Amino acid sequence: MKITDVEAIAMVWPAPQKQFWTALRPAGGFSELIVRIHTDQGITGVGEAHGSGAPFPGIYKRDNNGKIHPDGASRIVIDILKPMLIGQDPRNIEKIWDEMFKLNHSVGWTTAGWGRPQIMTAIAGVDIALWDIKGKSASMPVYQLLGGTTNKVPCYVTGGYYQEGKTISDLVKECESYIDMGYSAIKLKIGHVSVEEDFDRIRAVRESLGNQIDLMLDVNEGYDVETAIKAAKKMEPLDIRWLEEPVHWYDCVEGLSRVASSTIIPIASGESASNRWLARDLILRGGIQVMQFDSTRSAGITECLKVASMCSIQNVKLAPHHDPQIHGHIVAALPIGEIVETFPSGDRDPIWEELFSIRPEIVDGKLQLLDKPGWGVELDEDILEKRGTWA
Ligand SMILES: [Mg+2]
Repeated sequence: MKITDVEAIAMVWPAPQKQFWTALRPAGGFSELIVRIHTDQGITGVGEAHGSGAPFPGIYKRDNNGKIHPDGASRIVIDILKPMLIGQDPRNIEKIWDEMFKLNHSVGWTTAGWGRPQIMTAIAGVDIALWDIKGKSASMPVYQLLGGTTNKVPCYVTGGYYQEGKTISDLVKECESYIDMGYSAIKLKIGHVSVEEDFDRIRAVRESLGNQIDLMLDVNEGYDVETAIKAAKKMEPLDIRWLEEPVHWYDCVEGLSRVASSTIIPIASGESASNRWLARDLILRGGIQVMQFDSTRSAGITECLKVASMCSIQNVKLAPHHDPQIHGHIVAALPIGEIVETFPSGDRDPIWEELFSIRPEIVDGKLQLLDKPGWGVELDEDILEKRGTWA
């Protein structure tokens, strides 16, 4: 089998009317890189990577008239990776991944306005498309290809964002709605207000939902170490399943380790680790118990499997960030796979809501992976035309 063509499509959704805030920043517009790899045997692989791993210049630029021009990761796929990929057997994933990764050594990226985040996002999109081809050529879902036997994957819902005018009572109602949807694990944002105010928010949710529901807390790197330790101690009586990214980005290993050793709450991190070496530091030195490596933000499935191997040695669980339609396959396949992240509505995750004409459903808090080859998803061509720009 040989690769005959590669497409890269920059998808953009506008920011929601009422912004969702995490500790330090609002969730802005949403973007996604779609990669389609065509072969001489009629199999097409679909890959996705999301834009937050590719900050400025991101996967697109707007000109002064607001028109979108593909840039960053999607341009890298077409200008740099496509010539490398044409003619290769797409099933040689390790070889291809290694060739792509070596581009990080190249000078000239920064002069083109691109950096490693964009390269790693481009690699993610290509790698995920290659795994789709591998599954389709074997007529197996990826989770089966990886050795998994179940297609039902536990999932949690992420909510509890800060929004203008939102009260504690609104937050409690929001969480009760997730229980009505069938979820039994909820992740809430903290760190945008004082530790005392956040404690009141989370305590109200715990008191309303009882002790049978898992609550996780996500700080999105919002605290310094001392505040993180204080918050962790304060939240301990509320029976928290994990505390996520509690400290600022610049102290996310040694500082994180101090937090981890000061609390009984398990520490989660890894969505911001762009490769296995940064993941290794979190596992060996950061004191994490839950790894959230995001292969759709950076590096792809090939790298995620290496991270997962390190996790298994150190008794760290894998709960990947975002994109359950992809990460569900890994969690289903691996014994250390714990749970995947989902969002309750198109406001917060328009990609899940709109991008696919076929995708798995969430039933009673479990993602039901489809018994279809590859990732088992089909893209909605109308949405590609409406939201996408081909590089
Ligand atoms: Mg997070």
